[in-house]
Formats: sequence, C-alpha cells, structure tokens
Amino acid sequence: MHPSNPSTDAGVRNLHAAAPPVPSNFIREIVLEDLKTNKYGGRVQTRFPPEPNGYLHIGHAKSICLNFGLAAEFGGKTNLRFDDTNPSKEETEYVESIQDNVKWLGFNWDRLFYASDYFDQLYEWAAQLIKAGKAYVDDLAADEIRTYRGTLTEPGKDSPYRNRSIEENLELFARMRAGDFPDGSRVLRAKIDMASPNLNLRDPVMYRILHAEHHRTGNKWCIYPMYDYAHGQSDSLEQVTHSICTLEFEDHRPLYNWFIQQLGIFPSQQIEFDRLNLTYTLLSKRKLLQLVEEGHVRGWDDPRMPTISGIRRRGYTPEAIRNFCGAIGVSKTNGSIELAMLEHFVREDLNKRAPRVMAVLRPLKVVIDNYPPGQVEEMEAVNNPEDPAAGTRKVPFSRELYIEQDDFREDPPRQYYRLSPGREVRLRYGYFVTCTNVVKNDNGEVVEVHCTYDPQTRGGNSPPDGRKVKSTIHWVSSAHAINAEVRIYDNLFTKEDPNQVEDGKDFISNLNPQSLELLAGAKLEPSLANAAVEGRYQFERLGYFCVDPDSAKAKLVFNRTVALKDTWAKVEKKIEKKTEKR
Ligand code: ATP
Ligand code: MG
Repeated sequence: MHPSNPSTDAGVRNLHAAAPPVPSNFIREIVLEDLKTNKYGGRVQTRFPPEPNGYLHIGHAKSICLNFGLAAEFGGKTNLRFDDTNPSKEETEYVESIQDNVKWLGFNWDRLFYASDYFDQLYEWAAQLIKAGKAYVDDLAADEIRTYRGTLTEPGKDSPYRNRSIEENLELFARMRAGDFPDGSRVLRAKIDMASPNLNLRDPVMYRILHAEHHRTGNKWCIYPMYDYAHGQSDSLEQVTHSICTLEFEDHRPLYNWFIQQLGIFPSQQIEFDRLNLTYTLLSKRKLLQLVEEGHVRGWDDPRMPTISGIRRRGYTPEAIRNFCGAIGVSKTNGSIELAMLEHFVREDLNKRAPRVMAVLRPLKVVIDNYPPGQVEEMEAVNNPEDPAAGTRKVPFSRELYIEQDDFREDPPRQYYRLSPGREVRLRYGYFVTCTNVVKNDNGEVVEVHCTYDPQTRGGNSPPDGRKVKSTIHWVSSAHAINAEVRIYDNLFTKEDPNQVEDGKDFISNLNPQSLELLAGAKLEPSLANAAVEGRYQFERLGYFCVDPDSAKAKLVFNRTVALKDTWAKVEKKIEKKTEKR
C-alpha cells in the first residue's frame, strides 16, 4: 500500500571501506625511517594482541586502527594474536567476540595466532636461558620476592636461590612443568640485575606455577609464561617489525629487548603510544566486567557500554569510529578526549548516510477538523537531503495525526515558535495548520489539539499569498503509525572522570541513575515497518536511531544513537541564564 524505498528499509549499510588514512605521527615516522634504512628488508608487520579476558572497547579500536592502518599504508600485514597466557581469566566467548569486532570495524587480519601456540617454543627458550646461566628457579614466596625486589630508591637483594647450579635449575624447571609442585611455590626468574634502576630488570619472573585448565591447551601445562616473557618472543616468532603498545609498557621495553638479545632471535621493536581515555567513560575490561557481572548494565553489548559490541548496538558506524581514531592521532603523553568529539564523528557520518524518517517519541493527538474524514494523501518526502541518490518516499497524511508533546504549548514562552493556540505552523511535507482549540482531561492536561489546515499549502509549501510560518514540525498519521519502543541513553557516569571518587567509594558510585529512559509508546511512519536490525535512521528533528535486536515484528525497538544538536534546549538555557541574572 505504501511503496517503501529499499534504501530506507535497510537503513545505513556498513561500508567495508579500505583502511582509514593514517595522519602523520611519530610511529609513522619510525616506520618511514626503518623503510629508508632497510632495517627490516622493507617489510612492515604489525599485530593486534588482545587478551581474551573481556570484550574490546573503543580504546582497543584506537590500537586496531593504528596497527592495521600502518601496515596497510606500507603494504604490510597485521596478525591477530590472542595473548592467552592467563588461563584462569580467559574464555572462548571473548575470543569469538574479539574476532567479530575486528571484522566489523572493517579490518582483515593476515594470520591468526594464540600466544599459547608458542608454549613449547617458549619453554625450550627458557631452558636455553637456564643453560646460559641467565635464568633460575626461585623458591621465595611471592611476597618475599616483592620485598627482595627493593624500591625506586633502594636496590634489590639477591634471592638465596639465585646461584643454584644450572643442573639443579634445569631439573627443578622440568619438575615445575611436570606438576611436582603446588601453585605459587616456585617461579622461574631471569637473572639480570637486582640493582638496576629499572625495577622490571630486577630478575623478573618468567614462569609461574598454575594448575589451571587453559581454554586451548587444556591440562597440558601447569606452568604459564608471564606477559613480559611471552610477548616479545611471540612478536619475534611472527617477525613483527613494529610492536606498538600503550605507554605503561615503556619501562618494560629494556626487558623486551633483553630477552630478544639473549636468545638471538628476530629483533622486533616495541613502540609505545598513549592510551585512549574518554570523558564520562571507563575503558578497562576489568571494570566493564564488574558493570556486567553486578547487573548495572544489561550485558557487554548494552548500548551504554563503550565496548565495540555496545556502540555497534547503539548505532555507531565503523566508519565513524575509524574517522575518530584517525583524528585523535597518537602521542607520548596520556590525556583525555571529550566524549562529545566521538559523538561528533558519529553524527557527521550518519548525516551523510542515514535515511530520514518521521517518528514521534511522546505523542500528542492532533485532529484537523476541516480535513475530509477517511481521506488519505500520500505525501512525497525526501529520504536524505545530503544524498540526492537516496530518492523519495511516500508518507500517508490523514485527518488525525500525532505530533511531539514538546511541539505544543498552550501558553508559549517567548521565542517559542511551535504550535500553540491561534498559531500557524508547517507540518513537514504536509500542510500549514493553525491551532483552534484543545481538549483537556480531568487533570487539566491537554490530550488533543484541534487545528484547521490550508489546502493551498500541500506538501508544506507557502500559499499564494506568500504567508510564512516560523516553525516546521514533524508528525505521523495516527491510523498508519507503527508502534515502537525507543530507548534514550545518557552518559553511563555522572563524572567526567568516573574514577574520581570520594573516600571509601568506588567508581560504581558515579553511575548515572538516569542513563536509560524507556519510551514505550512511540509512533513511527509506516515506511519503517520492514526496518532491519541495525538499520540506522535519522528521526527528523530528534537524532539518529538504530533498530535494536530486541525488536519483534509486532514491536520495533530503537536505540537513540546520538541526538541532533538541540537548538531549542540551547535557546531555553540562554533565556534561563538571562532571567537568573536579573
Ligand atoms: P584493559 O585494561 O582494558 O584490559 P589491556 O591493555 O589490558 O586493556 P589488552 O587486551 O591487553 O587490554 O590490549 C590489547 C591491545 O590494545 C594492547 O596493545 C593495548 O595496549 C591496546 N589497548 C588497550 N586499551 C587501550 C586504550 N584505552 N587505548 C589504546 N590502546 C589500548
Ligand atoms: Mg590486560
């Protein structure tokens, strides 16, 4: 009955475009220099190395864009490597979601690895270091190791076990692997320098005993390598040329290099950049896990979560995220980026591509008294003024409509130009209408607005007398409307820095109790009847919205991705401020 445009039905599709442009930065300069000096034979090999202990977040997106973007720019390749050296915290669910997320962001890895693929090789190399007198088995307990390590101002002390013979070390290490000792009773340490000004070089632990089942190696191992021992060697095995990671690993770089030098293996190089921090947002898998486990959000993909799965469900596009990551760049000092900047990139991308539709979130009934009962006109509406190729669609107009409650005021304040008694406004793509009277309920609330229309303004065009109106409002024909639930989101935290808490409290105390508002009675234009999950639209004058997977045939569910800039709210604030001053 209402021919709908296919581009409207599907919403915005994901464009798996080429890698984003990488603006000039210090990492790129290092790569360029290495290419010039032929350090790696003209090769660029990067890797993205997540630990599968949670879902990826927007901070990881920055790392993904950098790793994949750099390699792509220089004809190189990027591996995906799961850093799965912590068996007790890792799960297959995370491995799957991470692969989904990377693909969704628009990237294809070259080879897929797991650090656990290298457990045999890492064990052999550890034995090699023992034989070279560069590693030893230590029987000190964890807290003793900590005390012996010293502080930034005091050198460390040698462990009494530091000078065991090579034979004894080899035998004990083999028995650690064989399962002869309980968890925590012994460790393997690198023998470097207990007086080094860099604490990471004071005989760091290479292996710990952990009788835990691993998601891939099962019960084959009861000793597991530490991050610092596994990471660089994994890079080297994959012949990674530029191993980029976040700044907190800067002090670990000498250790990264030490293992590679001692073993005489491929010289991968580590380069550090700043972590992404966003205002009103927490980017830590551990804390995000707490939000999920304690039920503060509906899951890892709750649209309020900064996870890739969450912002995808919210309606953010991969293009917007990639453009954002390109724009923030990289630096050598940690800072914080305004959440508003991310939202800007989302709006900018959706503005170009999201089909426009009319939807009323908080409906108020309007009856046009002089419009013929039973008559329906198909009004032509533009799908996207930013994209002429998106074409037009038909929207039914009839005698009874819904408008937003916000678009009517019985007693309009100054500078409020929308509908009010005696006032004429334009119904977008419809007609000029003038409010004649209202119907109220027993509480004195307006429940129905009565209007007349001017037949000479069909399509919303000015009449022959050139009369103008100051406001255009959107509407939905009540007989044709589709019901929907709309979920409006606000920041998950009330504080710019959610980690800033009063004594004795934690970040949970900064949760915004109003981060989710449910509008169960929204009315949508009928072209949305076939909207597909993840379809993205601009609801005219309201913002960008995306179809949630909770949708059913009988009831669509939309998430508000991001609001349009609300000009009226700004005017109202200005007026308020002026009044306060007086
Ligand atoms: P989290 O604290 O959230 O668990 P992580 O650094 O432990 O983060 P990993 O899975 O080890 O998470 O990270 C994989 C890659 O992503 C690493 O190279 C890491 O440096 C990078 N990364 C993680 N968080 C951020 C962030 N906020 N900004 C930029 N890169 C990040
Ligand atoms: Mg980690």
